[in-house]
Amino acid sequence: MSTEFDLIARYFDRPAPPGYLGVGDDCALIPLTPGHRLATSTDLLIQGRHFFPDMDPRALGHKALAVNLSDLAAMGARPLACLLGLSVPSVDHAWLEAFAGGFHALAQRAGCPLVGGDTTRSEGGIAISVTVMGEVPPGDALRRSAARAGDDIWLTGTLGAPDVALRLLQGRLPPDERLLAGTRRRLEWPEPPLAFAAALAGIAHAALDISDGLVQDLGHILKASACGAELDYAELPVDEALAEAGLADELIRDAVLAGGDVYQLCFTAAPAERARILDLAGHMAQRVSRVGRILAAPGLRLRHGDRAVALPAQGGFDHFS
Ligand code: ADP
Ligand code: MG
Repeated sequence: MSTEFDLIARYFDRPAPPGYLGVGDDCALIPLTPGHRLATSTDLLIQGRHFFPDMDPRALGHKALAVNLSDLAAMGARPLACLLGLSVPSVDHAWLEAFAGGFHALAQRAGCPLVGGDTTRSEGGIAISVTVMGEVPPGDALRRSAARAGDDIWLTGTLGAPDVALRLLQGRLPPDERLLAGTRRRLEWPEPPLAFAAALAGIAHAALDISDGLVQDLGHILKASACGAELDYAELPVDEALAEAGLADELIRDAVLAGGDVYQLCFTAAPAERARILDLAGHMAQRVSRVGRILAAPGLRLRHGDRAVALPAQGGFDHFS
């Protein structure tokens, strides 16, 4: 028999960095840089809704933290620490070992140590709640409301692969081993561009991470900034795995424009910053694409070269629609 405290000691209690007080007391203590703001965000992952019951637990541990680090990246914040709330129906040591392994590996790489949490038994499936904390100088935070007419719109990484992997796993696309092998990693092992995002401080205006689909998420920037935008479909970074699989154009378009689970950045910056952004991306081996521009007139327009293109009817993911 394992007690709750055995589980915590074995899987979650890790030495905290110098200056920190980690797992084991009533609260964790985290050193802060004077003058910075605390940036904090939380995400809940529920079995059956956000992940399949048989998902590789190591990938799940990674993803539970990655989706939260993505929010810090989108704010331009540097990670400080994270908290983990975990509810499991039973003690499965192999599962816990792998889950904690995936979680701690990313936490260490991202400089975001696990400093506390809560562990309970659940009556249903597994529920995972991660809270991240980071810091950012107040003037450097990449707010959604900071886009300006004339800004370029940029994306990191590629689009569409997580959505296609999800469709394959849900049986909404005919089985295709090769395509699944080419897309699954993007769904289960997202890598938010943390270092690049932090380097955008003082360069980018607005930013957010694409979790619910490009069209819907860009819409949040447009609403918060009271402006419109034009996207050029020809410039969108379609994931190579999709382009090579001979999928129908319409399916690719839906996956690219409305597919969620991307955890890459959409950001805006003045055209005068183009060279600096490309230079930075080159040095950091970060893929970036300039895909459109912010307009004063409200609304989102999509074109393909000189042709206007209709936006997908279903713009992105909504838990309650
Ligand atoms: P409390 O009674 O104050 O809620 P707990 O007994 O729940 O504390 O937890 C004991 C210690 O273990 C605390 O420092 C808590 O933050 C930590 N902890 C509990 N669960 C986790 C977890 N899943 N991951 C990391 N730390 C955890
Ligand atoms: Mg507790």
